[in-house]
Amino acid sequence: ASATSLAVFSGNNTMADGSHLPLLANVGTAADAVQAAAAGAEGVGLLRTEFCFLNRDTEPTVEEQIDAYGGVFAAFPGRKVVVRTLDAGADKPLPFLTNLEEPNPALGVRGYRTHSASPGVLERQLQAIAAAAAVHSADVWVMAPMVSTAEEAAVFASLCAAAGLRTPGIMVEVPSAALMASTVLREVDFASIGTNDLTQYAMAADRQLGPLALLNDPWQPSVLQLVRLTVEGAAAASGAAGTPKSVGVCGEAAADPALAVVLVGLGVTSLSMSPRALGPVGAVLGSVSMAQARELAAAALAAPSAAAARETVRAALPRLA
Ligand code: PEP
Ligand code: MG
Repeated sequence: ASATSLAVFSGNNTMADGSHLPLLANVGTAADAVQAAAAGAEGVGLLRTEFCFLNRDTEPTVEEQIDAYGGVFAAFPGRKVVVRTLDAGADKPLPFLTNLEEPNPALGVRGYRTHSASPGVLERQLQAIAAAAAVHSADVWVMAPMVSTAEEAAVFASLCAAAGLRTPGIMVEVPSAALMASTVLREVDFASIGTNDLTQYAMAADRQLGPLALLNDPWQPSVLQLVRLTVEGAAAASGAAGTPKSVGVCGEAAADPALAVVLVGLGVTSLSMSPRALGPVGAVLGSVSMAQARELAAAALAAPSAAAARETVRAALPRLA
């Protein structure tokens, strides 16, 4: 409780043993980005670009997109900004990309999958991201949502290269991408784990249904196993001599201070969250060493249930006890 009362984030992103752990912000608009920078975020780990265009019936023009993305880049000069390409569908329908007649939208043509159904939209978005990046100093990374296979990752990487965007990545939020991470991540430079959807799909529990909240819990040991597999797969995909493929988390799990410790202990190298979580998460991470985080991650993985994992870890963290 003491940690959650900290309003201002110190912004130094350092664990008790000196390990640096970037804490980034999830934003949807330029106004959010300005607030996130003021709150001490080191960069943006998830720009939900569909939030810029939620009220639109038609595809935004390239010029409108350049303005929207440029406003976010301007708030983080010289800093990392991870742009997610349009994640239309299911809980975030966009009229110009989403078929509202689908019987099962969460399993439908959403996220990266809209690329084959609506050719050209993704190419124009990448063109706009590249144009905005060219006039700002932000370190712009680009990732696709809802990627399930290595083929999809490879096509996305080639589209990014064609647009002149140098750091392509994927969100890992479909269990198949986590299970196949060592193959899928060979195609791209980084992964960002979306625990909201990864939990929904691992547990087969709609994230929007309140009565399923006990299943829809990122502390579920099966979800933690998928995080572990993603980190291990990324290391294997990097190869002995290759540049390590970084694995971040940008789902709500990163905003839970105790779970953030577990994610770091599992080998995740950055966390992205809503700006108001930066203070509480930073305070708890600052109170543990990497060795302690690894021990707590092992304990959570070995727990028989989500509740047991959460209780074991929380009890071991003095700032939360
Ligand atoms: C996620 O699925 O965890 C995620 C970060 O993306 P969104 O919540 O926007 O689907
Ligand atoms: Mg998602």
